[in-house]
Amino acid sequence: MSETNASWFERAKAVIPGGVDSPVRSFRSVGGTPYTVRSGKGAYVTDVEGAAYLDFVQSYGASLLGHAHPAVVATLREAVTLGTTFGAPTPGEVLLAEAMTSRVAGLEQVRFVSSGTEAVMSAVRLARGATGRDKIVKFDGCYHGHSDALLVAGGSGVAQLGLPGSAGVTAGAVADTIVAPYNEVPTLDERVAAVLVEPVAANMNLVAPAPGFLAALREECDRVGALLIFDEVITGFRLSLGGAEEFFAVTPDVWCFGKVIGGGLPVGAFGASRGLLSALAPEGPVYQAGTLSGNPLATAAGAAVLELVSGEDLTDLTGRVERFATGLADAVASAGLFALTPNAGPLMGLYLSREQVPAPTNFAEARELCDNGLYGPFFHAMLRQGVALAPGAYEILFTSLAHSDEDLDRTIACAGEAAQIAAKT
Ligand SMILES: *Cc1c(COP(=O)(O)O)cnc(C)c1O
Repeated sequence: MSETNASWFERAKAVIPGGVDSPVRSFRSVGGTPYTVRSGKGAYVTDVEGAAYLDFVQSYGASLLGHAHPAVVATLREAVTLGTTFGAPTPGEVLLAEAMTSRVAGLEQVRFVSSGTEAVMSAVRLARGATGRDKIVKFDGCYHGHSDALLVAGGSGVAQLGLPGSAGVTAGAVADTIVAPYNEVPTLDERVAAVLVEPVAANMNLVAPAPGFLAALREECDRVGALLIFDEVITGFRLSLGGAEEFFAVTPDVWCFGKVIGGGLPVGAFGASRGLLSALAPEGPVYQAGTLSGNPLATAAGAAVLELVSGEDLTDLTGRVERFATGLADAVASAGLFALTPNAGPLMGLYLSREQVPAPTNFAEARELCDNGLYGPFFHAMLRQGVALAPGAYEILFTSLAHSDEDLDRTIACAGEAAQIAAKT
């Protein structure tokens, strides 16, 4: 049997539920069969049929330098010969922790885990343990991983599949989770342990924080003694080197990281001041652990990425994304549709619409645009031209440092074509 995307996906479906290990990868909301990736290089991925796609998925933000960056590959080659996991402290975790804490003001220590989900889950436990309070506040449409208490009103795949949350989550598990609309500062009280927020909401397509929203949230947390947790799993070391704190000049109490800091390998981390983290085992009573936490391969790859990326690189990428955003919106407009392409630093959203509408400020507004039926045909028309966007309207475009200006110009040209097709549906 010759290798095709269809044959691999058939085999996948037989042995993996839905054929995917994460629902966002399925083509359920756009229709059709996913391409099965054989390899990636820079801004491109190649499928098992040998077709190359300009890739704006970039592992949903895990790969900032593009795929298989030579320096990261070399680092991993060397690291793997030394052994891959020990169950003892290693230099690599210290080096990555030093690289992170030296870039983010106020971040004094980090504890490594193996995913963003674990990072946020552990940060919430820390916040509850440190404050002795139960309630947490999250925002509608923000995604914080798939732990029970945080899936409620989640963005990303939960939104893509039109789910309110998840079956299998008990009422008890979410009883202490309060959901508020994004961009509105909730009135808190002394039962709230922490407010958890994506400083730029990037799992309901892109919703930027309104001017002053994060600062007002900071103030409200301080008023009642609640902790402010920035979920920087996407924004960390991407929005700017210092992350959302530097970008918006608002300092959280707890940070959660993932994606970029693993250089394409499984990592997460949560961090805070030394004082707050002293509540964590083995020093304090809040338990948290992991066999593969601080894994030597993952921390080596992450440290290689942070070493390679400068603040200037991110500023430069932001400028290129801003031109890309304008070009894309113009191309779509000339094809008879409207595109909103809001950006925050190098993060960029894409909403298609038949009417000219203002950029969404919360999940309800984002959802209306994401569910208007235009994205599926647009997505497929882009894919046929060799440009891979995420197979769901709730995701953002990840432009990596490997995307060239020519790549972005070609994408703009393809978007004009794709918009004409989508307009006719
Ligand atoms: C991806 C993501 C997570 C979860 O990270 P995983 O590594 O997929 O568990 C948490 N928060 C945000 C903001 C994310 O984008």
